[in-house]
Amino acid sequence: MIGKVKVGGFSPISVQSMTTTRTDDVKATVEEIKKLISAGCDIVRLGIPDTLSAEAIKEIKKYVDIPLVADIHFDYRLALKAVDSGIDALRINPGNLRNVREVREVARACRGKNIPIRIGVNGGSLDKRKYPHPTAEALCDSAMGHINLLENEGFRDIKVSLKSSDVKVMVEANRIFSERNDYPLHLGVTEAGGYEQALIKGSAGIGSLLLDGIGDTIRFSITSDPVKEVVAARTLLRVLGLRREGIEIISCPICARHEFNVEKVVDELTRKTKRFKKYMKVAVMGCVVNGPGEAMESDIGIAVGARGAVLFKKGSLIRKVSKENILKVLLREIELFQNEKDFSGRN
Ligand code: SF4
Repeated sequence: MIGKVKVGGFSPISVQSMTTTRTDDVKATVEEIKKLISAGCDIVRLGIPDTLSAEAIKEIKKYVDIPLVADIHFDYRLALKAVDSGIDALRINPGNLRNVREVREVARACRGKNIPIRIGVNGGSLDKRKYPHPTAEALCDSAMGHINLLENEGFRDIKVSLKSSDVKVMVEANRIFSERNDYPLHLGVTEAGGYEQALIKGSAGIGSLLLDGIGDTIRFSITSDPVKEVVAARTLLRVLGLRREGIEIISCPICARHEFNVEKVVDELTRKTKRFKKYMKVAVMGCVVNGPGEAMESDIGIAVGARGAVLFKKGSLIRKVSKENILKVLLREIELFQNEKDFSGRN
């Protein structure tokens, strides 16, 4: 458990992100956390570079209801202070604490309060003397060394992350680790760059592992607003079928045959349907080549031919729609679908 969120086993894959504000600026940090919560974040990590930041955790927790993880490096006293301040989990790299006594003290403090520790191994911060190159085996070996430090203190409430900015190394490291261990894994391609590249690196790395059933929490690393990380993570989980929520739009890439402005409709639909939570597929296809097929397989779909558009609902052709009204009709049908009660009586 990280606060109220279950991690590992058959629990849903949870989405993490990290604040970019100074943690001791409580107002700004709380505001950013609230934005992350609205975007669908499950767990938020805070950088704790100093005592003021560690002390601010207590205040921040008064205003937000989401598990918080303290990211600590080098100074074990900051970990102890974060525990005192009511943090829900720690992310440390036991290898950069100075000695076994410090690791022991942190483990003891966490055990007393059921606070899990994530061992976060990162290709960029491996011990260069021991591991001259950040290979997959080096990441795994380093993680095992850190796990042993905690296990020697009888501490097993552990999660592990093996991150690299190299997608192949990250994927391989997590595959090797998961064959050898049963600890929950937090996945991420780290330092993945600006928005477009980071989306692709994160999707390729995290996505391929999730498809193999590896991974329990995920974070997209994007050099931008962390809300984008959350949106990317949730979208990935949805398209992989790991979270049935929100609207999945099936739309074609458009070619010479398109019969209406598909791009405009899709952009508007995406923008106007973000608030919907219930999972559904909506097909918006440019012509009759693949249109009817996709529309029939979706909850709601529009297929458009030379003589106009037709609306499909759950596989059945319902009625004709004029091309000018496609967006309006889709929005109305989506709204109706979202408000339908399912058989369990829930919305
Ligand atoms: Fe082209 Fe039609 Fe395919 Fe869209 S659905 S890409 S318009 S052939």
